[in-house]
Amino acid sequence: MPDVLDDTTPTHCPYCALQCGMNLRGRAEAVEVVERPDFPVNRGALCGKGRTAPALLSSRVRLTEPLVRRPATGRLEPATWEEALRTVATGLSRTRTVYGPDAVGVFGGGGLTNEKAYALGKFARVVLGTSQIDYNGRFCMSSAAAAHQRAFGLDRGLPFPLEDIPRSGCVILVGSNLAETMPPALRYLTELRENGGTLIVVDPRRTRTAEQADLHLAPRPGTDLALALGLLHVAVAEGRTDEEFIRDRTSGWGEARAAAMAHWPELVERITGVGVPELREAVRMFCDAESAMVLTARGPEQHSKGTDTVSAWINLCLATGRAGRPFSGYGCLTGQGNGQGGREHGQKADQLPGYRKLDDPAARAHVAGVWGVTPESLPGPGRSAYELLDALGGDVKSLLLMGSNPVVSAPRAAHIEGRIRSLDFLAVADVVLSETAALADVVLPVTQWAEETGTTTNLEGRVLLRQKAVQAPPGVRSDLEVLSALAGLLGHEKGFPADPEEVFEELRRASAGGPADYSGITYRRIAEEDGVFWPCPEDGTGARTHPGTPRLFLERFATPDGRARFIAVGHRPAAEEPDAEYPVLLTTGRVVSQYQSGAQTRRVDELNAAAPGPFVELHPLLAERLGAVEGEPLAVVSRRGRAVGPARITTGIRADTVFMPFHWPGEGRVNSVTNPALDPTSRMPEFKVCAVRVGRGPG
Ligand code: SF4
Repeated sequence: MPDVLDDTTPTHCPYCALQCGMNLRGRAEAVEVVERPDFPVNRGALCGKGRTAPALLSSRVRLTEPLVRRPATGRLEPATWEEALRTVATGLSRTRTVYGPDAVGVFGGGGLTNEKAYALGKFARVVLGTSQIDYNGRFCMSSAAAAHQRAFGLDRGLPFPLEDIPRSGCVILVGSNLAETMPPALRYLTELRENGGTLIVVDPRRTRTAEQADLHLAPRPGTDLALALGLLHVAVAEGRTDEEFIRDRTSGWGEARAAAMAHWPELVERITGVGVPELREAVRMFCDAESAMVLTARGPEQHSKGTDTVSAWINLCLATGRAGRPFSGYGCLTGQGNGQGGREHGQKADQLPGYRKLDDPAARAHVAGVWGVTPESLPGPGRSAYELLDALGGDVKSLLLMGSNPVVSAPRAAHIEGRIRSLDFLAVADVVLSETAALADVVLPVTQWAEETGTTTNLEGRVLLRQKAVQAPPGVRSDLEVLSALAGLLGHEKGFPADPEEVFEELRRASAGGPADYSGITYRRIAEEDGVFWPCPEDGTGARTHPGTPRLFLERFATPDGRARFIAVGHRPAAEEPDAEYPVLLTTGRVVSQYQSGAQTRRVDELNAAAPGPFVELHPLLAERLGAVEGEPLAVVSRRGRAVGPARITTGIRADTVFMPFHWPGEGRVNSVTNPALDPTSRMPEFKVCAVRVGRGPG
């Protein structure tokens, strides 16, 4: 059982990108979460996931010894750390020797701390010499990140702190169900309305969040891009654009305007199902307000046109002067615990620390200098997450995986599970025996959030310190210790410290001068200041007095000319539209008591009792057509596979659409059904829409 090191330790929740502050108190099995009202993001509020997070620290299902698959039995059996690490080092180096460095893959996660993401990227490129590294954050917010980059020249999910939301006049929330994904954040929307602001929610389902809206738009899944274009068309036609802002602070308006004018309201109504009067009302609410925001989440982003869709929403902000001004702008609500920091420090296929580009010679030279290697020795960009997983067993023969469970979370999951099974060698570092870890040749049991110190960067771009609060069980090591030991076994005794603060100090230097500059941030500052917003460069005197940057773009955007760029985009259909064989749309999402692939939350009794399994949500009209009965099984079948869950009949969903949450393996695994069609820019799979047929019974 874990021992609490101090009476009360301030730390942060292990789950979503809100990174709620909490205190941990107590000893041994009685570790309890105590409110931390002084932390500004959640002001003491927590959802059930955060409140119950200590349950996994002392859980019986927790891994506490390494496992190695024995040839004699074919089973994973206990091993010493020495044997397990040596087996991993041998497995990876054998592949590299026989097939070359790019035959070794590395897969990370958006839940890894900044230090781990940094060390994993460095390990892949310096120790293994492979270009084949990416992470599950590619499945999360990469379309918004790409759209941010091309419009603003910088990707930070929110360019303002959450506290600005209630001070805005109007918020359009697109494809986000905050009431279930990060409940403590809902109060920002409640306060917005209490202050006289208005809330527009765009979602094909009438979620608990949509129920709070002044206006709920329920477009057909896969048509958010057309909706945004239609709103821009109305804004132009009704003279609601801000010509002065367009002239002084943007470029590219002519092409974007022309593209929007091709999407007149009646056409948009036909595509989206959202009526012309509602379009006009939304524009009136958005433009009447003195300040306004658009916030998107996975709903519009997880599509084969997610980047263009986000660009269309950004265009609406820019054309109406709702960007680069106080309490106005576009923001993405990042999902995973370190979804923001995890995409900044080098575990992405095309990236070096500090959000530098791997194909930029100056970036390569800077980071190579910090790492003590030559720029030429660094591999180039590799494959994106789905493409990497799809290559397993092909030209990628071995995989080291940390902080991810793609057997449940990848699209076309049965196919990806088959690719993973076909690997020559798989090593997984995890806290529990996830569905992916269960397929491994070696499983390394690692420490959890409260047992280790490290930084995360929340959805606001606020760098936080998760402090160690309890002692890990004997037999468990941190991911950093694992990477340090493996690096040593593979001939790199130096350069891979296991101490998180030492790694962070190196990360600071590697990020210096980059877009995500952390060089002025220290552990001490974070602890004293409730987090520090990047960019926060060192001021050149060594005094580290830069205050950090809570609000971006107020003076200029991060493009070379300081102007935000309109991107001309047009509507296109989803990669897979309904037809006679697959006549219904499927969309997927989350429930409040589970998190991502459920590897952790499915093992917490209280959460499991609240949300024990998947379900198929459908409208009474569709239920009648199918003869579906509440609570009885329905099979949802696509060209890729099938998933089964009990019917949940509600008028809160469109009649042409069914919804399933994605947290479960087995026959309820909805990602067996989802479409891996990729966005051409972000390489984000199209999780949010595909064509299915729905039938009674298990299919
Ligand atoms: Fe806060 Fe998210 Fe943790 Fe819930 S899961 S307590 S919303 S950080």
